[in-house]
Parts: sequence; structure tokens; C-alpha cells
Amino acid sequence: MLVVMKRDATQAEIDQVVARVSELGLTAIPLPGTERTAIGTFGVAAQEAGEQLESMPGVQEIVYVSRPFKLSSREVRAEDTIVRIGGVEVGAGRPVAVMAGPCSVETREQTIATARAVHDAGATVLRGGAYKPSTSPYHFRGLGEPGLAILQEAGRAAGLPVVTEVLTPGDVDLVARHADCLQIGTRNSQNFSLLDAVGETRMPVLLKRGMSGTIEELLLSAEYILAKGNPQVILCERGIRTFEKYTRNTFDVSAIPLLKRLSHLPVIADPSHGTGKWYLVAPVALAAVAAGADGVIIEVHPSPDHALKDGFQSLTFENFAGLMRTLPGVARAVGRPVAAAAAVTA
Ligand code: PEP
Ligand code: MN
Repeated sequence: MLVVMKRDATQAEIDQVVARVSELGLTAIPLPGTERTAIGTFGVAAQEAGEQLESMPGVQEIVYVSRPFKLSSREVRAEDTIVRIGGVEVGAGRPVAVMAGPCSVETREQTIATARAVHDAGATVLRGGAYKPSTSPYHFRGLGEPGLAILQEAGRAAGLPVVTEVLTPGDVDLVARHADCLQIGTRNSQNFSLLDAVGETRMPVLLKRGMSGTIEELLLSAEYILAKGNPQVILCERGIRTFEKYTRNTFDVSAIPLLKRLSHLPVIADPSHGTGKWYLVAPVALAAVAAGADGVIIEVHPSPDHALKDGFQSLTFENFAGLMRTLPGVARAVGRPVAAAAAVTA
């Protein structure tokens, strides 16, 4: 249930409503908007509680939220949320953000060279994994902490903010000290203690859809982060597992406009994991932007045939530059520019 305050409601009236909501055994989260404040109330929303709150000073109306996800829902917040990664704004019709870099940080040289190449081609955020979720314990699992330092150095060298995955709640502080945005991977999309932990930070979070996750499950995962008081969440479609074998995953392009209809959070696309084939990455990236994606995240490697992970879906510098020449035309056709490289603020 949402308590919508009057435009001219005073702070004292807002505080009184928050206090009354708590007395009624519900949790209150004030949601200041550009025009008025609404107060999200969570718990068993009894009809009588709503009726009592409606008669309080400063209250305009009570809106009952029908979706299981609340804070991430457009019913609760109609305006698009803008998420800020360093100096790059994502969402709300801002220029399409391009995040690019290696699947994994392998060496200092590989990471810095890739950072410079993606920057020069027009990317605005550097990606790269230091902690890699790996299906097999015998495969490369990332450089860990030294990899974080390399990624940070590469971001600074190229003038790009960085996004990197965090795998456990215990690593959140360490990763947050080196990164501008925390990534939650597909395998952790429903790791609720990790979602709580990143929700406790005030860092932007890039939340991937679970590989067998529904749209509703993704939005409920976002809800965990928002409910801890962190509103900076970007949703990411990265393909789901189906019976199809030619592609690594089946990229669900309809998820993009659907998520944007259901939620005010920015939505980006990962065509690298979404397809698993380097030659499908560019066409699917273009399709995602045409479908309204607020950004794309793309794997790039100096020499994909030597990559320790995901080489088969990584673009060469040349192929990435080719995509970046085509992307602005598609973005413009749907009324959006592509973001220009921004300065690092960290
Ligand atoms: C990644 O971005 O490198 C990654 C592991 O992605 P996902 O969690 O979508 O598989
Ligand atoms: Mn990868």
C-alpha cells in the first residue's frame, strides 16, 4: 500500500504518517518524488490500516499496490530511475550506456589494453571479472583481489568507471572499494543474503536475470536491494536457458520493453552471455537498443582465441569498434543518442 501525501504536506505530517505506519505494524519507506512524497508501506496491508491513514493530515490518497514487487514497480514510482556509475547516467532516456571489457581480468597488460581500446571505440564503462563464478571448480575462477586492483588501474588509465562481479556478502566491502558498480551474476540472482548485502551499500548494482529466472523473480530480487534502502539498481537481461543448443542461452528481447513497462529501473542487455557466439553479439546488441535498452554490456578481448574464459563470445577490438560504428544509427532511430566517454569521478 502506498500513502500518497498532498503536494503541500509538511515534513512533520510526513513524519507523523511514518510513525503511525510503524504503530500499525507495517514498515514505512518514504519515497520523495519531484512533485510529492509517497510513503511505501510493507507488511500485511490491512484495509483498516489504510482507512486510518487516509484520514491523517497531509494525506492525499491511499493506493493499493497489486504487484508482488513494490519498490521496483511503476505503480509505486512512475518516473524512471537514473542510476549513476561514476559520471555515467543510465536510464530515463539518457544516452545508451556501453559497458565493455574482458570477461575476466587475466593480466595487467590485457586489461589496460582492452580498457583503452573500448574507451577509444566509445564505451563509457569498463567491465571485467576478478571473482568469476565457474560451473567447474577446475576452470579459471579469477585473480581475486589482485584482479580488482588491475581493473581499477585500467579504469583510471582509460578514464572509465568500472563494473565487476561480487560473489559473496563477505567480499562486498572489498569490491566496493575498487569498483564504481557491483555486478550480481546470473547464478547469484536469487542469493538473498548477497542481495541484502549490496542493498546495505549505496553503490550502484547491476543485477542480472537468473538463467532460469522469470521476470517477476528478477524484479523481486531487485526488491531485496531496494528494500534495504539502495535505490541504484540496473536490471540486466542476459539470456535464459531453453531447449535451444545452437546458442549458449536464449536472449529474451521482449524482457526489455516488458521490464521497462513494469518497473522504473533502467534495463540493459548482455548479448555476449545472451548468445554465447561472437558473431551474434552485434546483431543482438542492436536489437536490444532498438527494443529500448538503456545500455549494453559486451565482452571484448585483445585475442579471444587465447582468452581464459568466454573467448568464443568475446569481440576483438576491431569487431567492437565495428559495432560502435553501427550502434548510434539504431539508437538515433529510436530517439536516443549513445553516451560519450565520461570522466572517472572515483
Ligand atoms: C559475466 O558477466 O562475466 C558473467 C559471468 O555473467 P552471467 O552472470 O550473466 O553469466
Ligand atoms: Mn563471461
